[in-house]
Amino acid sequence: MKVLVINCGSSSLKYQLFDMTDESVLAKGLVERIGIEGARIKHTKTGTDTVIQNREIPNHKVAFKVVVEALLDENHGVLKSLDELAAVGHRVVHAGERYAGSVIITPDVIDALEECVPLAPLHNPPNLMGIYAVTEALPNIPQVGVFDTAFHQTMPGYAYMYGVPYHYYEKYKVRRYGFHGTSHFYVSRRAAELVGKPIESLNIITCHMGNGSSITAVEGGKSIDTSMGFSPLPGVIMGTRSGDVDPLLISYLSDQEAIDNKAMSHVLNKESGLLGISGVSSDLRDVEEAADSGNRRAKLAEDMLYYGVKKYIGSYAVAMGGVDILVFTAGIGENSARAREGICKGLECMGVKLDPEKNKVRGKEAVISADDSEVTVMVIPTDEELVIARDTKKLAIDR
Ligand code: AMP
Repeated sequence: MKVLVINCGSSSLKYQLFDMTDESVLAKGLVERIGIEGARIKHTKTGTDTVIQNREIPNHKVAFKVVVEALLDENHGVLKSLDELAAVGHRVVHAGERYAGSVIITPDVIDALEECVPLAPLHNPPNLMGIYAVTEALPNIPQVGVFDTAFHQTMPGYAYMYGVPYHYYEKYKVRRYGFHGTSHFYVSRRAAELVGKPIESLNIITCHMGNGSSITAVEGGKSIDTSMGFSPLPGVIMGTRSGDVDPLLISYLSDQEAIDNKAMSHVLNKESGLLGISGVSSDLRDVEEAADSGNRRAKLAEDMLYYGVKKYIGSYAVAMGGVDILVFTAGIGENSARAREGICKGLECMGVKLDPEKNKVRGKEAVISADDSEVTVMVIPTDEELVIARDTKKLAIDR
């Protein structure tokens, strides 16, 4: 019972093949530079060395064919025949208000996702290219869509609406959607499992902090608010994204710099955040190093990140009437003890007490709060692929 999970970006295709009898990963890999010179596939059969092949890969259809070849390869493959593959699960970024959970992909679902393209112009088109590539290569295989926005569909209207005239919501679907939903779902469930309490009884704040970061309030297992919004730009400062800004900055700066909307979006998405403030890098490791050697702007960028996350934690604790568990995940959340310490400093007033020794952990599940901390603070590596594989099994195989 094998399930292939696919995550397509504009020039990349990530994949993992699961054996769902025991949820083990048989192989994983990445096709990169699709449509660009220097395209290649990096493929790893679990327990063996990574194989890298340079290939001409003009589009996602060819990329998927190359993945299939790798999975069937005599030496580093893991399938004898494609008949062993029971279903394919796709990560899809935006499903608008249409889906609050994963679904089997049908022509109607594809139409709905095409309709969401204006809401996620950078992400939905490559996600759809992945679906089209699989449909063409394996027309009879069931496919499932798992959406980044779905988990946040439980937010109440007062949390997802913006204070702009209501008809813009009706006409253009302008509202907070939230992203990283699959990750917030996974780590909140895993946190409940690890403390041995039902998710319905817990208030959890999940901090997904990587190149993109979002903070979510998970009350009784449901997302009730999240820091990203209509787009993945707002919230805390990120690698190159600004996070929250006064919206009037945008027209003011466009006028001052004489740049159009597209150029302004580029500034906010690609030139801002840790990179824009520090002038050093979008990678927190470089920013930390620069701050240690006396770079004041790097220190400022770091402090802005911690302060921003802390403010979201405080507001979500109030939104839920208290918090039981605080979870850190993704590249920064899983690896930077310094970021976790910087964020938790000052949260003692709400019952957060970090244990500096336990906080030294990197990249594995751990409780990092002191034994007498009222709030349990945890590091939980995220596993979005596993959620996609499980939903795919549930919808396409167990039905
Ligand atoms: P992600 O998008 O989840 O892959 O996270 C990528 C980001 O995690 C990188 O850009 C780094 O800023 C950050 N990161 C990874 N390892 C560390 C580390 N040891 N210390 C600080 N930041 C890290």
